[in-house]
Amino acid sequence: LLLAYDPARRLARLQINLERAVVNARMIYEILDEQPTQGDSANASELAVGGGEIEFRNVGFGYGLGEPVLENVSFTAEAGKTTAIVGPSGAGKSTLISLVPRFYDPSSGQVLIDGTDIATVTKKSLRHQIAYVSQQPWLFEGSIRDNLRYARPDATDTEIEDAARLANAHEFILAQPQGYGTMLGENGVNLSGGQRQRISIARALVRDAPILLLDEATSALDNESEAAVQKALESAMRNRTVLVIAHRLSTIARADRIVVMQAGKVVEIGSHADLSATTDGLYARLQAYSEKGSSVSADATPTNTDS
Ligand code: ADP
Ligand code: MG
Repeated sequence: LLLAYDPARRLARLQINLERAVVNARMIYEILDEQPTQGDSANASELAVGGGEIEFRNVGFGYGLGEPVLENVSFTAEAGKTTAIVGPSGAGKSTLISLVPRFYDPSSGQVLIDGTDIATVTKKSLRHQIAYVSQQPWLFEGSIRDNLRYARPDATDTEIEDAARLANAHEFILAQPQGYGTMLGENGVNLSGGQRQRISIARALVRDAPILLLDEATSALDNESEAAVQKALESAMRNRTVLVIAHRLSTIARADRIVVMQAGKVVEIGSHADLSATTDGLYARLQAYSEKGSSVSADATPTNTDS
């Protein structure tokens, strides 16, 4: 019976359900500045960000008493550059990214920003420097303008519209019944998956933070939406330190550096050219796998012969 369903339509239905779902605490943290001071050390200082270099130094992590999810992860995401993280589902990519805004703290090792251990700074000052676009774009009940301004309450209308323009969202927003004042949510308009993603990217642009964390969406978008979202992402990534969990080959190939993860460990690091030259590596296998599909849906485990 399931096979009779069009997957894209199933996905659309899923998004409608999620739209109604209660926004969970972690998602609110994505951009809220009024975070709890819980977890700040007594003499926590304010994080001073220069270029926004992110270093993972021998990072280990596990959820509760479970298996370790990250083991001895070390690499540096250079300031102003794009570092892509790729690897099969369950490798620990999303967990790794969630350590940067301190949704979780490492059980061993450190995360440093511009050389400062982020465990020693206030969460507020840390998150102030970060914009985070999650894999599942979420919008709340309210106007489109409210949804965008949420990233930075003091943003002007002009700043909001400029961000929407860059994110390739301005035109479809103007085409809505009340433009930026159009209400979203249960009694408001329904946007397509691609439109929701572009609003979520525009929100990151409104935030205008030096560090951008991006869990690239894998949802099946039609070609036009895909191109529009891609363009939006390119604007958002410019001149920022970007850590992107990348699925699309175009994002991966354009990254300055690619970190390949498997089972909680970094297994390869290099440029697209470096890694492609190693034909027996995981990266080469992921790529061979992706060429069969339209996007590098690395969240699908590659069929590999030795498993
Ligand atoms: P990826 O993003 O590479 O698919 P994740 O970081 O989401 O990987 O997950 C890595 C591992 O951690 C998986 O085994 C997953 O089941 C587990 N995991 C992820 N989130 C949680 C959580 N909130 N509680 C417990 N285990 C989790
Ligand atoms: Mg993930």
